Amino acid sequence: MTSELTQAADATSRKARSVVALAGGVGAARFLKGLMQVHPQDDLCAIVNTGDDANFYGVQVCPDLDIITYTLSGQINRTHGYGLEGDRFDLLQTLEELGHDTWFRLGDRDYANCLHRTLQRQAGKSLREVAASLTEAFGLDIELLPMSEAPCPTFIELNDGRRMHFENYLIQERSPAGVRAIDLSAAQQARPGDGVLEALEQAQSILICPSNPAVSIGPILAIPGIREAIAASGAPVVAVSPIIAGAPVKGPAHHLLPALGVPVSALGVAQLYQDWVDGFVLDNLDAALVPEIEALGIKTAVCETLMSKPGVDSQLAKTALALAASLRKSTT
Ligand code: GDP
Ligand code: CA
Repeated sequence: MTSELTQAADATSRKARSVVALAGGVGAARFLKGLMQVHPQDDLCAIVNTGDDANFYGVQVCPDLDIITYTLSGQINRTHGYGLEGDRFDLLQTLEELGHDTWFRLGDRDYANCLHRTLQRQAGKSLREVAASLTEAFGLDIELLPMSEAPCPTFIELNDGRRMHFENYLIQERSPAGVRAIDLSAAQQARPGDGVLEALEQAQSILICPSNPAVSIGPILAIPGIREAIAASGAPVVAVSPIIAGAPVKGPAHHLLPALGVPVSALGVAQLYQDWVDGFVLDNLDAALVPEIEALGIKTAVCETLMSKPGVDSQLAKTALALAASLRKSTT
């Protein structure tokens, strides 16, 4: 790339985005795909959890950033829920034959993207720049901002005394019950990623994706300065519940929320978020919880939130944006 082109790319990536979302992986990716259909992609930004990041097979893997990139470009492997459609696993197969432990599944093209990240980082590029180069390679205009440049791994502590990285808990151990604590101390000592505070400052609406509150949204908020920037932005903050009828749609939120003392319900999530959200979108199945959530001082919208049928994602995104817009009007 010539320096002129680089400058043009930098200017584009610095363009203020009026809708800024906080995002984990799967639930966030589904929601952002809906958001892209109802709002211009080049006006969207997502601040993405990096607490799940880890090194595997010599490369830096950023599960949430990559799930979002692969989902939004329509290239996610729908059967697995991670990785790229049609990817092969020759590299992992070879490593396995050579005696390596290969519990973390990484396809060949997926591996190449992570190797690109690793090489770019070694060449002095920031994680933000690498995220931008990957979204561009996948034909996306949304801006994905890693929550932190430095590694800040989330650790899980089990009742049996074992302590492990979140990916070991999720994949190697298959996310068992009996979680005693979620250790976000690395995030608590990290600095916000490049561009994160600026994005929040310029936001007109802040949306909290239906992501795991404990291990996706929690680590982002644990970074000193991010909560303050959300409050200072003056933008309405609207969260979408990842819990429907007392259960997560996918993943181990039902084993993790209890470790925070939070009931596994839309009300529990609203209580956890009550100090910093203005609006909350919950599922039709949970409509009975509206009075209790509104009693917390949070405005609600109720709609279908299970994004497995076509069109639900964009309707849900519209509902969240409309709730944010209504809260903006009433506060100015
Ligand atoms: P992860 O990092 O891949 O676990 O992804 P997230 O943290 O973004 O998403 C996990 C959360 O997404 C879980 O708590 C799920 O309940 C939630 N989720 C996944 N799909 C849907 C959906 O279609 N609707 C809603 N409301 N939540 C969802
Ligand atoms: Ca994740």
